[in-house]
Amino acid sequence: MSVKTASCLCGGIKVEINGDPFLRNLCHCSSCQKTTGAAFGSLAAYMADQVTYVESEPSLLKTFIDTSPESGDVLKRSFCGRCGSPVRVQRGCKPDTLIVPVGIIDGDKTAFKPQAEFFCRGKANWVGDIQDSMTFDAAPPKYPPV
Ligand SMILES: [Zn+2]
Ligand SMILES: [Zn+2]
Repeated sequence: MSVKTASCLCGGIKVEINGDPFLRNLCHCSSCQKTTGAAFGSLAAYMADQVTYVESEPSLLKTFIDTSPESGDVLKRSFCGRCGSPVRVQRGCKPDTLIVPVGIIDGDKTAFKPQAEFFCRGKANWVGDIQDSMTFDAAPPKYPPV
């Protein structure tokens, strides 16, 4: 089984990921745009027991309860209290899963090519299409969609 590591910008939070995500997607919703500071979120979703978080000091991992998502769900968005990197998203309706922002995963990102794009109604028109990726105007009717 493949093991990957991830970390926040300052290295205070280290992550070990066992195996592959059950979904790789982009999200163009305004909540993901705000929290990433980018035009869209690039995300990898796992079963919660595949991913382990280790803090270099107690309480470094902070969590913001995000009630703003366009999906209507409530998200627990966790980040490093020292450097601010987003490191985890947990969906209120899917507590046995968690989402890792692809940008914090160490090394090459080739394996994280998105299978789907959510909330394309908010997609910037200068972002190109991804080959063989499903697109949804809003949230997909079922999750995961693939
Ligand atoms: Zn950090
Ligand atoms: Zn989103």
